[in-house]
Formats: sequence, structure tokens, C-alpha cells
Amino acid sequence: MEELKLRPVPTPTGRAAGPTPLNALGNNVLTTTLDKVINWGRASAIWPALFGLACCAIEMMGTVGPRHDLSRFGSELFRASPRQADLMIVSGRVAIKMAPVLRQIYDQMPEPKWVIAMGACASSAGMFNNYAIVQSVDKIVPVDIYLPGCPPRPEALIDAVVKLQRKIRGEPLVKRTA
Ligand code: SF4
Repeated sequence: MEELKLRPVPTPTGRAAGPTPLNALGNNVLTTTLDKVINWGRASAIWPALFGLACCAIEMMGTVGPRHDLSRFGSELFRASPRQADLMIVSGRVAIKMAPVLRQIYDQMPEPKWVIAMGACASSAGMFNNYAIVQSVDKIVPVDIYLPGCPPRPEALIDAVVKLQRKIRGEPLVKRTA
């Protein structure tokens, strides 16, 4: 097997020449902004709250199984405590009685936090145009991604997570308010 050859580091010249730590780094330096590093960390490890409302929740559970494997995108750690979660996936219709419970779970999640309205019911009440169902979950919590379908397939939820990651990477480091 051929021996691994390392590329020689160019010798600095002029005033910068000398055995300083910076010169020893050679060309192996990357620069970025604090926003990009923090957003990269946030987007790469979104932890959803363990929380399902109706039939859409079955599809949400399917995303963490071996066939769809949401862990490829760093979001498979569903947290039983909202205090450890930063993503709420509203998976199903929201009954009027459930609305304050949903809002309480959202309020217990630390900032920054995001919401995906999964399915037609969470986004617009779907077929349930009646007094018992909240007609869109954005009346209760701010929504970042609306995911259409009845129910959306696990691939669609994974696509929504990827779109949310893209959104997070472009967010400024200012406090989001509900
Ligand atoms: S969108 Fe369809 S699958 Fe999802 S909760 Fe509503 S009726 Fe059920």
C-alpha cells in the first residue's frame, strides 16, 4: 500500500515569519460567524416533544422507525418533557378542550422553539368544520411550517423537518417571541 504523504505547509515570509501558533496552522483555518455556528447546532439536533393528537400521530411515529429513520436528520429524540424539546409537531386535529393543554406544553418548552402543523386538520381543521375543533392551530401557537395532507406520509414530515432546518439556519440570533 502506498505511504500516505502529507502536503507540506508553506513557510511564511516577512514580518509574520516565525514560530507563532498562527503560522503553524498554515492553510488549515476556517472562518465563520457566530450566527452560523449556533444555527448549525440548533438545526442539526432538533428534539421534538413527545406529543400526538390524532391519526396523523401514527404517521409521525412511523418517521422514527427503521424504514424512514428520522435520526438521519438528527431529530429522532422525542422528549417526554417539554422542557427538553424545541419542536412541537401538532399531529392531528386540535379539540377546543385540548387547546389550553397544547398551549401549556408550548409555554413549557424553552426558547428558541418551533412548530410544525402536521396535516390538514392542524393547519385548517380539514374536514372538521365544526364548533368542537380549533380551525387552525396557529390560533393557539405560532406555526413555522404547515404540512398539507390527510395524513401526510412520513416522507412528507421528514421534508418538513428539512425545510425547518433550512429556516433555522437563516434565522438571526435574536429572541423569538410567541
Ligand atoms: S389530517 Fe387526516 S389523518 Fe391527520 S388528523 Fe386530520 S383526519 Fe386524521
